[in-house]
Amino acid sequence: MVLMQHNTMIRQIAVNGERMRADFEALAAVGGDGSGGVTRLALTPDDIHARAWYADRAEEAGLRVHDDDAANLSAILDAADPNARTLVIGSHLDTVPDGGRFDGAVGVLAALECLRTIHESGIELPVKLEAMNFTDDEGHYASLFGARAFVGVLTSEDIFDTRRDNAQLRAALRSVGSDAQRVLGTRRDPESLAGYLELHIEHGTRLEKSHRPIGIVTGIVGRKTHKITFLGQAGHSGTTDMYKRRDALRGAALFIVRAHESMRARYGDGIFSCGDVDVKPGKFNIIPSEACCTVEFRHVQEDLMVEMEREALQIARECAAANALDIRHELITHMPAASMSAGFVSAIESVCEDFGIPSMPLISYAGHAGQFTAQITPTGMIFIPSVDGIGHSPREFTEWEDIERGANVLLQTILRWALGA
Ligand SMILES: [Zn+2]
Repeated sequence: MVLMQHNTMIRQIAVNGERMRADFEALAAVGGDGSGGVTRLALTPDDIHARAWYADRAEEAGLRVHDDDAANLSAILDAADPNARTLVIGSHLDTVPDGGRFDGAVGVLAALECLRTIHESGIELPVKLEAMNFTDDEGHYASLFGARAFVGVLTSEDIFDTRRDNAQLRAALRSVGSDAQRVLGTRRDPESLAGYLELHIEHGTRLEKSHRPIGIVTGIVGRKTHKITFLGQAGHSGTTDMYKRRDALRGAALFIVRAHESMRARYGDGIFSCGDVDVKPGKFNIIPSEACCTVEFRHVQEDLMVEMEREALQIARECAAANALDIRHELITHMPAASMSAGFVSAIESVCEDFGIPSMPLISYAGHAGQFTAQITPTGMIFIPSVDGIGHSPREFTEWEDIERGANVLLQTILRWALGA
C-alpha cells in the first residue's frame, strides 16, 4: 500500500514546462541570429555567456555549481549521503556554426529542469544528480572534447599536438579558468558514478515517420575517418596519351563509386561517405597528380565497422592498381561504437508504456557524449523528433510539446531508476 502511494506520488511529478520554455527562449537568444539560427562555438564569448547564464540558473535553483579541468560545467543536486554515487544527466550548450536552437540545448535544459523539479518535490534520492554541459561536443576545437576528458581518453596529442598546434584550444581553456596541463587528469572515477542519461533531438526522420514521440537509443554508431590519397603523375591533359596517363582523380572517382556500391550491398546498417576530395594541382588542363579523399565509416557494431574499413581500403588499393597509381592512407579519427545499458533501456520503455507514450528503439547515427560515457558507466539516451530530420541548421525544429514530453520521460526515468521503483 505504502509502495503504491509512493508510486502514485512519483507518477504525478512533472517538469515546469513554462519555466523550461522561458529558459529555452533565453538561451536561444545567446548567439542567436534573430531568425532561428544560433552560433555558439565552444569557449567563444557566446558560449562563455551561455555557460555563465546556465550557472546563474543553477544557483538560483539552489543547486551547486561545479566545473572540472576540461571546463565541463554542471549543476549538482546533492544526496543526503555524501558518499552517494552520481547520476549524470547531460548534453551540450555549444553549437556548430550557423546551427539551431535545439541540438544540445534541450538536453541541458531538460536536465536542469529535472533537478529543479526533484529538488522542489522534496524527494530524497539515494544518488546525487548532476546536470552537465559537456565542453565542445560539436568539435570547434575537438569533437566530444569534454566527454573524452570525462572518461579519461584524451591523449596529450589532443591538447599539445605540435602538428595541429592546439595553442588556441589551450588559450580558450585558460579563458574559462581551466588549466590545459591538468585536463589529462580530469578522468571521473567510475566508482563515483551511477550512470549517464541524455535527452537529445533525433537528427533524423524515423520518429516523425512512425508517429512515435520517443526514441529509446539502444546503441550509438562508431565512426572512423580516413584520408585516402591516390598518387599519380601530372601531365598535359591534351597531349598525354589517354591510355598511358596516371590520373589520380580517375582512381579516386572509381574508388568512391565502387566503395559506395560495396558498402550498400554488404552493410545495410553501415554508413560510408566521401565528403571531400582535394585534387592537385587542381587545374582543368593538367592531369591530377594527387587526389585525397576524406572518407568516413559508421556502424553500431565496432567489429563490422573495422570490416567495412578493411574492405574499402582493399577497394582503394585495387582502384589504384588499375590506374597505375600509388596510394597512401591515414586514420584521422576513431570514435568507438557504444551500446546503451539494458537497465536504462528498460526503464525508459516502462515509463513510456506506463504513460501510454508510443516509443521505438533507435540506433543513433550521430556521435554523442554517451558513446564515451558508456565506457565507464551505464548509459542511456532518449530521442525526441526533429521535424524533417533537420539538424545542424537554423531550420532545425522540434515541437515544444515533444520537448516537454521528452523532459518528463527523462524525469520519470531518473526517479524510477534511482528509487528502483
Ligand atoms: Zn548534439
